[in-house]
Amino acid sequence: MRQKSRYQIGERERDHFHSYLFILLHDLFWLLFTETMFGSGDEEMEMETPCMWHYLADCGRWHPFENDPDDDMFSGEELERYYSRNPKGVVNRTSSSGNSRVDFKAMLQTDPRGRQRRIKRDYAMDKSCSCFTAAPVFWEAVDPTMPCQLVPLTELTPEYKTVAGYVLKEGLLDKPIVSIKRIQNLDLWEFYCTKKKQLKRIHKVKDIEERRLFHGTDVKKIEAICKYNFDLRFAKDSCAYGKGIYFAKYAPLADQYSRSTRDLGSGQTYFYMILARVMIGKSTQGQQRMKKPDEGSLENQHHSCVDSINNPNIFVIFDPNQIYPEYVIEYQKKAL
Ligand SMILES: [Zn+2]
Repeated sequence: MRQKSRYQIGERERDHFHSYLFILLHDLFWLLFTETMFGSGDEEMEMETPCMWHYLADCGRWHPFENDPDDDMFSGEELERYYSRNPKGVVNRTSSSGNSRVDFKAMLQTDPRGRQRRIKRDYAMDKSCSCFTAAPVFWEAVDPTMPCQLVPLTELTPEYKTVAGYVLKEGLLDKPIVSIKRIQNLDLWEFYCTKKKQLKRIHKVKDIEERRLFHGTDVKKIEAICKYNFDLRFAKDSCAYGKGIYFAKYAPLADQYSRSTRDLGSGQTYFYMILARVMIGKSTQGQQRMKKPDEGSLENQHHSCVDSINNPNIFVIFDPNQIYPEYVIEYQKKAL
């Protein structure tokens, strides 16, 4: 008979081992079961997660409030305190620069200048910021096989409210908005993001100045703008501030360039303008026949031309990659 090895276990020990294993697994199962059923430990998890309140940043992604402290605005901690008291409430605060306001029902925050941004309460967010790399988080039903998608916004959404609020309050459009459509074009977004990265690298700066500007247009051109962006090749020599693509700070100026369309069904007349995100960077005085901001130079210190350096109302862009056409605004010409 073969000698039993020191490490071989006999029949009795094996039975003991099996019952021990059974008890161990049984206990483990109960532990897991009760954890899932009753959620013990969730409180600890919430306490450990620092980023709870986020705002929708210009890059199209949610940023934690903690990454961008602003004296005029509420901190993430303050928001959480107010929210836990009343998750549908409105909080107002007055500081030296004016009133700021948070509306938890609409999930909108308004700063002392009246600018609105969307906010969100969420635990599971990306820790690493991927600004200007992927499509904005609020794009819907993105179809990568489509060159461009036009998505109508529903009036009650926070996005509609922020865009309409911008058009009416900051853009000073004095006419009723009929509809707003979001332009989703993955390629144009990528060009825009790459341009931004390039300018940041060349000038060794953290950010390049952007504005939301208006361009009045004809309904027939919208499809082409949505698909290809604005086309520099249509720019005329005779334009006052250079041979580029023109944008207005205020909607009433853009309105002078929009063309009417009569809806045959309703007999109503509609007008259109594009609300674009424009990388204006550093501006210089525009002049007729200018083909680029630093005319005659191989260097590019400026990125846009303006009608007036001190009080610009018109911005001229010479590189379409500095433009992302973001929304189509349809409106009527009745007084508000
Ligand atoms: Zn970002």
